[in-house]
Amino acid sequence: MSTSREIITAHPLTPNKALGQNFLVDEAAIARIVYAALEPRVPMIEIGPGLGALTRPLAESGLRIAAVELDSALCRILEAELPENVSVINADFLKADLEKIHASLGGDDLTFVGNLPYYVTSPIVSRLVSCGLPIRRMVLMMQKEAADRFFAKPKDKNYVPLSVLAQLKYSVGTLLELSPASYWPQPEVASAVLVFDPKEVSLPAKLPGLLKCAFSMRRKTLVNNLSGFGLNKKEAAALLERAGLSAGVRAEELTPGDFLRLAELC
Ligand code: SAM
Repeated sequence: MSTSREIITAHPLTPNKALGQNFLVDEAAIARIVYAALEPRVPMIEIGPGLGALTRPLAESGLRIAAVELDSALCRILEAELPENVSVINADFLKADLEKIHASLGGDDLTFVGNLPYYVTSPIVSRLVSCGLPIRRMVLMMQKEAADRFFAKPKDKNYVPLSVLAQLKYSVGTLLELSPASYWPQPEVASAVLVFDPKEVSLPAKLPGLLKCAFSMRRKTLVNNLSGFGLNKKEAAALLERAGLSAGVRAEELTPGDFLRLAELC
C-alpha cells in the first residue's frame, strides 16, 4: 500500500486551510491509530477522511466504514480509489444524519475515528458526546490545547461544560502526542490522539442545559447563574444545599460528580 506522502504526491492539491486540512504523513502514528480503532465486527464512521491516510489502512480490515468529508474534490478522489466497504459521504459532519448513517452500517455498536478539523473540534466532540448512538470507542486526533479540556480539573482555566460531560460519559486516555512534523502542511501547534471508552452510565437529560447555565458567567456564583435554568435564588440555594454544596460556590469549582448529583436533584 502507498504511504500517505506518496498518496499526497499522486494528488497535487492546495490544502484548504479554512477546512483544517493538515494531512497526516506519519506512518507510525497512522498504524497506532488504526490499531486502536479496529475491532472485529464493529463498523466505523470516520470524520474528515481527507485523502484517506487513515481510511485506506482501516478499509483493509474489510469492516464497513462511512467516511464523512466536507470537501467534494477529496470525496471524488476517495470514491474512485477506496474499496467497496467504504461509503464516502460528502457532508458537513455537524449536519450529517448520524442515525441514518448508523442504520446503513448495520445499526449495532460503532466506532468513531478521525483526525479532526481544528476549527470545529469542540462542536464535533460535543455532538458525539450527546448523540445517543451506541458508541463502542472514539479515537480522535485534535490539537493539544483542545485535548487538554478532556483532562481538565475544577478551577483549571480550560475546565468547560464539555470537560464535565465527556469525563462523566467516557474514560479518556492519550494514545499519542504528535509534533507538527507529523503533518503536511505542518500546523503551528502540537496534537494529541485521544481514546474515549464509554462508561456504564446514563446521564440525566437536564445535565447539558444545567452545565450551559452554570458556566454562562464564570465569575458569578452558581446561585446567580442558575436563574437562567428557571430557578430563583432561593430555589437555587436550596438545590445546592440538598446536593451538599455551599451557597457561594462557582461552577468552575464543582467536580463532574457534583454536577451529576445536581442534575439528578433538579
Ligand atoms: N484524515 C485526513 C488525514 O489524517 O490526513 C485528513 C484530516 S484533516 C485534519 C481534516 C479533514 O476534515 C479535511 O479533509 C477536511 O476537508 C475535513 N473537514 C473539514 N471540515 C469538515 C466538516 N465540517 N465535516 C466533515 N469533514 C470536514
